[in-house]
Amino acid sequence: MDSERIKQVARELGFDACGIARANRIDDEAAQRYVQWLDDGKNGCMEWAQNHQQVRENPELLLEGARSVIVVAMNYYPQVFQPKEAPQFAYYAYGRDYHEVMKQRLWKLGEAIERETGHKSRACVDSAPLRERYWAQQAGVGFQGWNNQLIIPGKGSYFFLGVLLTTLELEPDEPCTEQCLQCGACEMVCPSGALRCGDTVDARRCISCLTIEHKGELPEWVGEVIGNHVYGCDECQKCCPHNLEAVGNTTPEFQPKPELLSLTLDDILEMTQEQFSTVFSHSAVKRAKLIGLQRNAKIIKNHKINN
Ligand code: SF4
Ligand code: SF4
Repeated sequence: MDSERIKQVARELGFDACGIARANRIDDEAAQRYVQWLDDGKNGCMEWAQNHQQVRENPELLLEGARSVIVVAMNYYPQVFQPKEAPQFAYYAYGRDYHEVMKQRLWKLGEAIERETGHKSRACVDSAPLRERYWAQQAGVGFQGWNNQLIIPGKGSYFFLGVLLTTLELEPDEPCTEQCLQCGACEMVCPSGALRCGDTVDARRCISCLTIEHKGELPEWVGEVIGNHVYGCDECQKCCPHNLEAVGNTTPEFQPKPELLSLTLDDILEMTQEQFSTVFSHSAVKRAKLIGLQRNAKIIKNHKINN
């Protein structure tokens, strides 16, 4: 089984992009950038980001004998959208939880590798200490823009990333050397000043992190910047010229439920646990829980009432 065959199977499984890198330690610059981000406290409430530093730098600590890093991507750009006045969910959360969808497909890719070569694999979708965007760049899939998103040339940044580590030695792709247009729009539109062009994101100020990851009450200033973002934020992607050509995904699992598209702020505020479990079954939104979603909705509503 060679690299071409891997990519063919990946395509058949519905992945929109696939690239391969050697499973070496990550380079010093990338390692240092991450350490600096932590030292600056920019991981905010994501305390888990401090764990497993050594593993994060060396994929062989995730899979003994790992030789190759197979990176795949799946488009999540929607075909249909919430009304503009509705409390906004980040596009990635419109459909079924990508962890489930991508892992199942990556397991199938791993099974094909084992069947044809006897080699072992490990699927990682945001579930292991692994630098997905770094590996995507190394595997030639795309480059990291000033908005810190992985951008696939000609396709944009609305893509989920997944990684299959394997003990199979494969011919690697050339790393992607393209850069973003450096127009500065992402910094300008960021509602909360979380983004400085060419720098890392400050999760302490990022609405995406605050509305999804943060547990407990949010600082008062969040009311000034939250706008209509009830779960996540796509502003630094929506403005990016690399996304002008984004095409709506056709993956059945990523299509939004009508109940999500029609949700109003009051629907969320009055939602019962049972309704939440129904609307968001198999959804990434469950990460914030009903309590987190209603906290965000309350902040949006209070700010609207007072202004
Ligand atoms: S908005 Fe402009 S600066 Fe920001 S990532 Fe896109 S091209 Fe780069
Ligand atoms: S997700 Fe929103 S708040 Fe976070 S960096 Fe991007 S634009 Fe700023």
